[in-house]
Amino acid sequence: MVLAQLGGSISRALQQMSNATIIDEKVLNECLNEITRALLQADVQFKLVRDMQTNIKKIVNLDDLAAGHNKRKIIQQAIFNELCKMLDPGKPSFTPKKGKTSVIMFVGLQGSGKTTTCTKYAYYHQKKGWKPALVCADTFRAGAFDQLKQNATKAKIPFYGSGKASGVYVDGIPTIKVGKLMWRIGRASCRPVWWVGLVVKSPSRTRSLIMLLKYGKLPISSSREPMRVFGGSSFTEFPFMLDVTFEETLRAVRDACRGFKLADPSYMESDPVKIAVEGVERFKEENCDLIIVDTSGRHKQEAALFEEMRQVSEATKPDLVIFVMDSSIGQAAFDQAQAFKQSVSVGAVIVTKMDGHAKGGGSLSAVAATKSPVIFIGTGEHMDEFEVFDVKPFVSRLLGMGDWSGFMDKIHEVVPMDQQPELLQKLSEGNFTLRIMYEQFQNLLKMGPIGQVFSMLPGFSAELMPKGREKESQAKIKRYMTMMDSMTNEEFDSSDPKLMISFGARRAGPCTREVMGREITSILSFGVFDLILVANIAELDSSNPKLMNESRIMRIARGAGRSVREVEEMLEEYKRLAKIWSKMKGLKIPKKGEMSALSRNMNA
Ligand code: GDP
Repeated sequence: MVLAQLGGSISRALQQMSNATIIDEKVLNECLNEITRALLQADVQFKLVRDMQTNIKKIVNLDDLAAGHNKRKIIQQAIFNELCKMLDPGKPSFTPKKGKTSVIMFVGLQGSGKTTTCTKYAYYHQKKGWKPALVCADTFRAGAFDQLKQNATKAKIPFYGSGKASGVYVDGIPTIKVGKLMWRIGRASCRPVWWVGLVVKSPSRTRSLIMLLKYGKLPISSSREPMRVFGGSSFTEFPFMLDVTFEETLRAVRDACRGFKLADPSYMESDPVKIAVEGVERFKEENCDLIIVDTSGRHKQEAALFEEMRQVSEATKPDLVIFVMDSSIGQAAFDQAQAFKQSVSVGAVIVTKMDGHAKGGGSLSAVAATKSPVIFIGTGEHMDEFEVFDVKPFVSRLLGMGDWSGFMDKIHEVVPMDQQPELLQKLSEGNFTLRIMYEQFQNLLKMGPIGQVFSMLPGFSAELMPKGREKESQAKIKRYMTMMDSMTNEEFDSSDPKLMISFGARRAGPCTREVMGREITSILSFGVFDLILVANIAELDSSNPKLMNESRIMRIARGAGRSVREVEEMLEEYKRLAKIWSKMKGLKIPKKGEMSALSRNMNA
């Protein structure tokens, strides 16, 4: 959770105050001192903290409060308001509009997370139906282009830049060996490359890559153009069977690649302005509505860095310049933000690495003090660990009051429109089946780190997701889903755990589509591929009838390659979640502005 430590300390202070029988000056001072200590520890500027304390005391004049007034509520509200004031940076100078071309230039020091953030920003908008594109104008840092290319290809976002393709060259084709049998082959040009990943389980029994190449299911043999992105992370998108040996496979791929004009791998365009202009023009022609230009973050001298930024800015005429800064610098963010603002017209700020640093609160408040609007925060290394920064919901989460609007936003983002009413309906009915659990797990994985999502729900995060162990929990969820893949429909739709294990096998066997799909997904995480070719999947869809006679839990365990204990643990988890889910029963989904009412409801 973002700023977990600071949030925890503040909520504890508020809780202690709430526990006191009488709230007098002493109790109020203790609470404020505790909050002050937490803020100072988070590196918030002393002056800001002192001002906040003074303001709260001014608002909460205990003597003036008429008897019968809810002092606790007034104090809590005052703290909420002051924190909002402290962190409110105002509005960005420009807000891009979907369908209308905007050029966004990213600036920031090297290591601040700029390149990662460019892709996160593009990915965030792509998920909302935008057509983003990335331009790498960082010719200074070796590998900057490769990094952007890799991120962009993974997210299937078009990109432009210039740099050496990394990897080993075999017959002039850049090739990388991952493990024993996986290669990636691509064009070393500044154009989008295409990559082929091979999953070969047993080289001697593979089949049909040649068929695919020959009979034109793939555009490799017929087209000299870079290949369109083909595939995804689910097996159904790779409906191929292969029956060639690994050597034949490689030969076929190489044959298919022959004739591709490979750009000179040693060629690199070094003028960032030229690349930026070319990239922006190209994507304007392609009607992209969000053209993101990543600039260099390092130079021998600061003056040269600012001069380069100015030149790229003049040449590309960005609608918005976004300054990316690392939150670990704490209140030093004030000087850094000022320096960048004075050199280029910074219209918005993104603060990164809010996940790992105790100084996050300090940097946020320091940026706010420069009146530079923070629009997003980075909360991890992954593409979807990225959140819109909105002061009120943010402070609300910090105080443990939940962020219902953020949760709803996530739901709107990932759950298809036509399924939203159904999900909300299910939420309010409180009837929790394993299928719902499975679907929600799918959504959670899509939504991003589940800690992030559940931390938005008041009272949920601690139960579901131990702090700092989000990655493990995510792996656990994937494991549960594997087990659930081996359940029958009847088991799936039942909300009675006893019934759940009393039906026959739906899918079992050692090598199901799901198992294979997962294997492909894990291979995808090695690198970037437009196409994954799968070999030796003859066992696909086979079911193992012997298993059907075993007890149901054993069947599920075997189908998923897990132990009985793990299946039982999964069912326990189901029961626990069902209990939490039932808390939502009868809840009215709040409209905008009703968030705090809901928070109270959930906390009750
Ligand atoms: P650049 O030099 O500014 O382009 O920085 P990079 O994008 O290369 O990022 C530097 C490092 O910070 C990389 O290891 C990123 O994975 C990491 N990083 C970027 N954003 C975040 C974030 O929000 N949280 C965490 N934990 N790491 C991040």
